[in-house]
Amino acid sequence: MEQKKICYRCLLEDMDENEIKNKVQELIYGIPEDEKTDEEEYRRRLDICKSCDSLISGTCKKCGCYVELRAAGRKRTCPDTENRWG
Ligand code: SF4
Repeated sequence: MEQKKICYRCLLEDMDENEIKNKVQELIYGIPEDEKTDEEEYRRRLDICKSCDSLISGTCKKCGCYVELRAAGRKRTCPDTENRWG
């Protein structure tokens, strides 16, 4: 099956949920290993996001980013004033 190219200049309204999910996973995959959060810390961060009122459809209201992508970067922090991941 031919793999569909990701459109870097499409609006979210023009993408379906699978495209968005695949794009986020592609970006996470592209993070260099030495910059990537280890699995245990990644899951810990996402568990915190899942209980946070700022999580909306996979994005963080505080910064607008996809939390899974943000959590995957070792040096990234929660953008809330109190850094909930800290
Ligand atoms: S404010 Fe922090 S904990 Fe809450 S959804 Fe955003 S990144 Fe996650």
